[in-house]
Amino acid sequence: MGAKSSFEAIIIGCGIAGASLAYFLAEQGMTDVLILEREEQPGYHSTGRSAAVLVELDFIPSILQLKILGAGFLRKPPDGFSENPLIRQSGILILFQGQLWETVRQMIPGLRQAGAVVDVLSHKEVVSMVPVVSPENFDGAVLLPEDGQLDVNELLWSYLRHARLRGIQLRLKEEVKGIKVDQGRCSGVIASSGEYQSRWVINAAGAWAGNIRKLVGRTPVQLTPYRRTIITFAAPEGLNVKDWPLTADLSHELYFAPESGGMLASPMEEEPMEPCDARTDELVIAQTIERLKQLTPRLVPKSISSKWAGLRTFAPDQAMVVGEDPVLKGFFWLSGQGGSGIETSPAVGQIASDLIVNGRTELIDAQHISPMRFTE
Ligand SMILES: Cc1cc2nc3c(=O)[nH]c(=O)nc-3n(C[C@H](O)[C@H](O)[C@H](O)COP(=O)(O)OP(=O)(O)OC[C@H]3O[C@@H](n4cnc5c(N)ncnc54)[C@H](O)[C@@H]3O)c2cc1C
Repeated sequence: MGAKSSFEAIIIGCGIAGASLAYFLAEQGMTDVLILEREEQPGYHSTGRSAAVLVELDFIPSILQLKILGAGFLRKPPDGFSENPLIRQSGILILFQGQLWETVRQMIPGLRQAGAVVDVLSHKEVVSMVPVVSPENFDGAVLLPEDGQLDVNELLWSYLRHARLRGIQLRLKEEVKGIKVDQGRCSGVIASSGEYQSRWVINAAGAWAGNIRKLVGRTPVQLTPYRRTIITFAAPEGLNVKDWPLTADLSHELYFAPESGGMLASPMEEEPMEPCDARTDELVIAQTIERLKQLTPRLVPKSISSKWAGLRTFAPDQAMVVGEDPVLKGFFWLSGQGGSGIETSPAVGQIASDLIVNGRTELIDAQHISPMRFTE
């Protein structure tokens, strides 16, 4: 007997989005599900290349809401979900200047009301916490003491382990090359090794999500992948960086954090590009060093230990795209995770699963993230 080729739902892509949805579908009893992933391993693209932090601050209200919802799960997952903690509450320190600080200052009561723990720090407190920061470079700072470093691998594999224990299948090295449509409704996919039938096709293809939809005509959702780079290097001698929070200077576009005994830094670039296996650009690496030189000269590395780049994929309004396609019934978007797909995955996976299984969700006003918003 050949491998099963008909499922209730097919998920295209096994990054954090596809994996979290599989987990929540299984939790809700929908287990006749197949995940198709083109690469040899899950999480090879954006999911494996993130800065891996939870930051409960965002200028897009729906993203902020999803982060706060996700944080609850990350801090206290269901019993037996993971073998190791998903978060180390190492803290997130964010520095602002000028108008940006005014904007954030006004946001703070709302953030607290929404459930985030936010401390406003004085210049002195910032410098005593992270002594490489210069007080003249920022007007105000907030510390999110309960946020911090996520274990992405643990999260991804915990989602997948539970989903597979309940019967959900994962097939690797299977590229989706076509979408099948029957009487105006999506009815399955054409993949490298053959055709699959399904009632739902879920587009969790990350940077490729726009291309997947274009396999069946004009896409109602415009997604753009933007590259972002991270470098790692040894911590400077004489500085004990290990307990520093991730420190982000949003006005000067630089963040740095302790990482595996050393440091990581990113110039927070947003370079639009076609979906691809993103590679670093020497010019951007040079800009990162230049920015460290200007803002935190003590951190300028003698050499770089490693570097990587990944894609952050956004809809034009930067909110996520979660819901059934406005035109193609049975085709479900789980895309546009931008720069917060990991931390929001416990909320977004649950919401997508609610919408697929029940047609509605109690967690959020789904209109804010629906692909329908692009048809008005
Ligand atoms: C430098 C950087 C820092 C970041 N920092 C953070 C952070 O601190 N916190 C946070 O929450 N987020 C962060 N992000 C964002 C986060 O990484 C993404 O939002 C998230 O990983 C997106 O997950 P995804 O599953 O949608 O995409 P992906 O992980 O890219 O998964 C999509 C999958 O679909 C597969 N696929 C594509 N086309 C096909 C096809 N035709 N057939 C089969 N499979 C296909 C791909 O191979 C891929 O595995 C960061 C991103 C970058 C680049």
